[in-house]
Amino acid sequence: MTSFLPYGRQSVTDDDVAAVVAALRSDWLTTGPQVAAFEADLSAWAGGAGVATVCNGTAALHVAYAAAGVGPGDEVIVPPMTFVATASSAAALGARIVFADVEEETFTLDPAAVSAATTDRTKVVAAVDYAGHPADYDALRAALHGSDALLLADAAHSIGAGYRGRPVGSLADLTTFSFFPTKNMTTAEGGAVATGDPRLLTRARRFRNIGLVRERDELRWPDEGGWHQEVHDFGLNYRLPDVLCALGRSQLRRLGDFLARRAELVARYDEALADLPGVRTPGRRDWATPAWHLYPIRVLDGRRREVYDRMRAAGIGVQVNYLPVHWHPAFADLGYRRGSCPVAEAFYAQQLSLPLYPGLRDVDQERVVDALTSALRGVPVRPAA
Ligand SMILES: *Cc1c(COP(=O)(O)O)cnc(C)c1O
Repeated sequence: MTSFLPYGRQSVTDDDVAAVVAALRSDWLTTGPQVAAFEADLSAWAGGAGVATVCNGTAALHVAYAAAGVGPGDEVIVPPMTFVATASSAAALGARIVFADVEEETFTLDPAAVSAATTDRTKVVAAVDYAGHPADYDALRAALHGSDALLLADAAHSIGAGYRGRPVGSLADLTTFSFFPTKNMTTAEGGAVATGDPRLLTRARRFRNIGLVRERDELRWPDEGGWHQEVHDFGLNYRLPDVLCALGRSQLRRLGDFLARRAELVARYDEALADLPGVRTPGRRDWATPAWHLYPIRVLDGRRREVYDRMRAAGIGVQVNYLPVHWHPAFADLGYRRGSCPVAEAFYAQQLSLPLYPGLRDVDQERVVDALTSALRGVPVRPAA
């Protein structure tokens, strides 16, 4: 009996467990010293940007859009090749989502599509570092020339990646991270917002903490009393607890090792699959240092569904990332049409994520390659008439 290999999973050691236990035994369970320490550690990975931790990656997006001032009447440009939260968190603030197609090879937001989609109502352009490969931030910035829109990086896949020698976290006006267990590092649930703009950082910190203002020089009624705090703009409780920040700090110490093992597995997949007919391996730009979160292959000849089913039956937890966001019924019901983003939609029809995580052993990976090879050799299963 061979074990099931998921497409992604966490790597938790005794050190992580000890860090969590120590935080549990401390005086602080929620906002305590581990929060500020984790934010400082993350800042070091994000090129010195200010960081606000939050309780998950979706909350990070919601906080970032709120900090950017997104509201009804605003447009937010998003690529369809992402997890739905990149778009739905802005829709939740009342924005109109404008989907702009992705580039061939990297399947990140296409700067030319952004130019075409930008209007005077565009508030934020949200790029996604799909699979851990950074979007083309300089070209996206150039595409926004003459617009007041902010650039957001959804870096849920790409903490630790680099773009032209600069770290993810320092490339956009706002960057969001997710620490869900399948991502490049975990806090169970968790996320963060990074920004180099102190005003955006303050707005992000306040939104994550119910909108509470405590700074005396900003209070409307500063003489109310020592207990006094005020809400000027509505926020939510999106705080990440001390216990989970302790786990995050411990994980972050191994992020470099995690990324090195992911890169090694990616190189091994690239080599093993280079001459396999019927599939294409992921592309990359020479200016990118990806932090590979996914290994997204393309299965040609209309055989993705069949290969998915065969590999699942063989105990390989392949995944499809992602259904084009505008295909979700919530967007379809608003009138978004299939066919509007042909590059992303053609990619979706072929996409398959192979298992990729630091604990994946070489022998496990060989099993994945063998299962893929036999799935492709299999007589194509014809759909029932
Ligand atoms: C995982 C993910 C999110 C959401 O993060 P959660 O922590 O699961 O809420 C957002 N965007 C992308 C691209 C993701 O992969």
